[in-house]
Amino acid sequence: MSPRADLAIRGAVVVSDGAYARDVLIRGGRISALVEPGASTAEDEIDARGLLALPGIVDAHVHFNEPGRTEWEGWASGSRAAVAGGITTVLDMPLNSLPPILEGDAFDAKRLAAERASLVDFGLWGGLVDADPMSLLELRDRGAIGCKAFLCDSGVPEFPPLADDELVPAFRAAAGAGLLVALHAEDETLVREATARVRGEGRRDPAAWAASRPPLVEVRAVARACAAAREAGARIHIVHLSAVEALGAIGAARDLGTDVTVETCPHYLEFEESDMERLGPALKCAPPIRDARNRDGLWRALLDGKIDLVASDHSPCAPDLKARGQRDIFAAWGGVAGVQSVLPALFTEATRRAGDALDVRKVAGFVVWRLAAKPAKRLGLWPRKGTIAAGSDADVVLFDPDREWTLDRERSYTRGVDPYIGRSFRGRVILTLVRGRVVYRDGEIVTNPPHGRFISREEGTAA
Ligand SMILES: [Zn+2]
Repeated sequence: MSPRADLAIRGAVVVSDGAYARDVLIRGGRISALVEPGASTAEDEIDARGLLALPGIVDAHVHFNEPGRTEWEGWASGSRAAVAGGITTVLDMPLNSLPPILEGDAFDAKRLAAERASLVDFGLWGGLVDADPMSLLELRDRGAIGCKAFLCDSGVPEFPPLADDELVPAFRAAAGAGLLVALHAEDETLVREATARVRGEGRRDPAAWAASRPPLVEVRAVARACAAAREAGARIHIVHLSAVEALGAIGAARDLGTDVTVETCPHYLEFEESDMERLGPALKCAPPIRDARNRDGLWRALLDGKIDLVASDHSPCAPDLKARGQRDIFAAWGGVAGVQSVLPALFTEATRRAGDALDVRKVAGFVVWRLAAKPAKRLGLWPRKGTIAAGSDADVVLFDPDREWTLDRERSYTRGVDPYIGRSFRGRVILTLVRGRVVYRDGEIVTNPPHGRFISREEGTAA
């Protein structure tokens, strides 16, 4: 008897751990089977001939800022941008929302806000701001995906960095709670010194930002974090790495058996210093966007697996906080609003770099490995998320690998300043399904009541 399903996606090439022609059958919000084309019946059907079926992207690093700074970005606007870009799960960072997620009540409040408004499934990072094990246990018991720490000023006063002498005890506390530590790795002392020097020269131009945070800032912080992780027996994840030079310390730590992974972001892979001069505050972020050789080095590291995954670090703000950086780059908010363009930007750049050897299925496979499978595995969400397989959540993106298009302002859904507006891409998200429900189709958000669900580490692995 042929398998029965609520929904069948027919005619696509499934790209997830290989590429093959299969119909994807969905039942009760999960993938029930992958079958030979035509060998099934279903209540409803989607014709996906000519398209790739990709696992929904798992964005390990966003700041949707609600509650507290919803006017910068909220769960409704942020998740609209996400589904338009093929993202079906986001992991939200413990800061820029208010209060920051440092204990259980704040965690509960954010979870509630997200459940009311999110179109995508979500997990929550907690904060690691000291060595207090009690607050970490509260966060762990609520299903936090991990805990985030800063080695330099976080940009908001309510989220303090870890001091040097707190590093090992705080990592020990996180390890004791079984939590992965995500680290913003820039060295505070070096940032202060370089910033004072650059500002002392009177510079306020966009390029002054990168000059105030040279690669050494990351090299020193990453090395220190890796050594502390080894001493404390902690698992760590370096977020938004920008400086290629800092990868050396990570490789050395891995050789010693330290459990460390590293992410970079589309803006470091897509832009370089001339873009910073052109777009200015829209591309201001920390660590900064660097030169073209650095960008090429990041690509090579991504291709050969030295960089594990790519996440958006979507961190928008009210537009006036960017505008005030036009005359003084130091005055602008630091953060790039890019959640909508992660998949198209990476696919476009990867096809361009493949040159004559281009095989779009291989490129798509590479992209979803770094954007969906790897983050899901590292964050304990695999195989519920990050793959197209029987039993997984039916988070599926139908993607046209040949479509060329340009992002216009009307179709950019973030509340922030989107530096990708006007940018041309190859490869377009045609349809996004979250647990079997269409949330985005042919350039339009499908307006249904939001049904994004909270997902904890444990749920992911148990599924
Ligand atoms: Zn961030």
